[in-house]
Amino acid sequence: MSFASLGLIEPLLRNLQNLNYQTPTPVQAKAIPAVLGGKDVMAAAQTGTGKTAGFALPLLQRLVQHGPAVSSNRARVLVLVPTRELAEQVLQSFIEYGKGLDLRFLAAYGGVSINPQMMKLRKGVDVLVATPGRLLDLNRQNAVQFDQVQTLVLDEADRMLDLGFARELNAVFEAVPAQRQTLLFSATFTDDIRTMAAGILRNPVDISVSAPNATASKIKQWVVTVDKKNKPDLFMHLVAENKWEHALVFVKTRSGVDYLATVLDDAGYAVDTIHGDKPQPARLRALERFKAREIQMLVATDVAARGLDIDDLPLVINVDLPIVAQDYVHRIGRTGRAGASGVAVSLVCADEAPLLAAIEALIRQTLRREEEPGFEAEHRVPQTSATGEIIKKPKKPKKPKVPQGAPAAKPMPGKKPAAQHGASKSKPVAKHAGATVPEPSLGGFNPFSTQKPRGKPAGKSTGKPAGKPAAGPRKPGGKPAGGGRGKR
Ligand code: AMP
Repeated sequence: MSFASLGLIEPLLRNLQNLNYQTPTPVQAKAIPAVLGGKDVMAAAQTGTGKTAGFALPLLQRLVQHGPAVSSNRARVLVLVPTRELAEQVLQSFIEYGKGLDLRFLAAYGGVSINPQMMKLRKGVDVLVATPGRLLDLNRQNAVQFDQVQTLVLDEADRMLDLGFARELNAVFEAVPAQRQTLLFSATFTDDIRTMAAGILRNPVDISVSAPNATASKIKQWVVTVDKKNKPDLFMHLVAENKWEHALVFVKTRSGVDYLATVLDDAGYAVDTIHGDKPQPARLRALERFKAREIQMLVATDVAARGLDIDDLPLVINVDLPIVAQDYVHRIGRTGRAGASGVAVSLVCADEAPLLAAIEALIRQTLRREEEPGFEAEHRVPQTSATGEIIKKPKKPKKPKVPQGAPAAKPMPGKKPAAQHGASKSKPVAKHAGATVPEPSLGGFNPFSTQKPRGKPAGKSTGKPAGKPAAGPRKPGGKPAGGGRGKR
């Protein structure tokens, strides 16, 4: 199948050719004709499937072919997104796909001055990509009115609900014209999303290009079990042993992100961070530098999990599991995009067994477990299953002992299966899917609060100092660590 056979016009086809998009992805093959035909769409498309082009291309075509020019302080297409980063990314997609079409685009989000956004809205824009809060601010200040909105797009609708935007979304639904086209894209479909969809979509074309909540099959995923206090050392050990030189690293708390960035920086890696305490320009700069490979490691909280499109990212490391199971899908979806292969490694401690069980239930698979010699968990992580059960309760923490097993560390790809634990009684696990996830600050589990950054785990003898990687990871030409964080 070709893009031309989907009915796209010449300027769009030219732009796609320049981007070297040769064939439509499955979601594009289904969404493009439906959107061109003016239909409502409800699409369950996992991250990295090409869904942005799935709605942007046909909407650009409709903007060119239909309807009057936009008036001042109006928008014809309104795209709602959960995060500022995704707003920028979707805007870039519209700009790239719509080159030469003489249309106006704008991304509007909070955390930056509202005035330039108000100025740009004066002439009106054809496509406004916005986060819900800032959009309503602009509307309250009469910078944008909704009476010319022809199409409303909800991108990553599940994430918008997770982030607590339900009220803002309802306010937008009430303000836009009843006669409109509505497109709803969501990686996961919870009951809340289905209820919302039923209220705003009219006879939608239902598109599901893979099992909802599945993770991209090309991503190799496994778990390394470890005691909470040894996570930083294990992380540094794995990075050095495997010569991991370009990775997106997820940590649960902001303080944990800063801590790990310092440890990486001290060890000579070029590193930057993204979390909710950082101003938006600094976050975007960190992302740009990571994409340009000016930095090797980007350490982030879940703020960065959704929607970021980073080409050729081979590796995602979850130092902590996310509190909300769907965020696992989004985190690891940063790798293995557009058919590429990728690796996702999660460090899991006993406390996180319920989170692991919820993730496995969501993705409908039990993740393979590894142990790293010298870092075997004293507090065993109970077995879990793809039905969301914990097979065995965690044992009460024992006093640390000298670890069993060979002390010599070996590289991750050498994998040996973790010890199997005997099954006893099953225990259902509370599902975390769909819960609201505020980005924790200092509260909750912070694996970095008690541990020194470097050195061997207490009482263990790995024969290799963790946290002291060889010169390999250093950025060529100069002090890499300073290049990473010092200039912020
Ligand atoms: P998305 O799921 O929209 O974030 O897109 C994921 C990635 O796939 C982006 O890097 C797109 O540029 C890329 N992409 C989208 N559609 C195609 C296509 N038909 N052929 C090749 N790459 C694509």
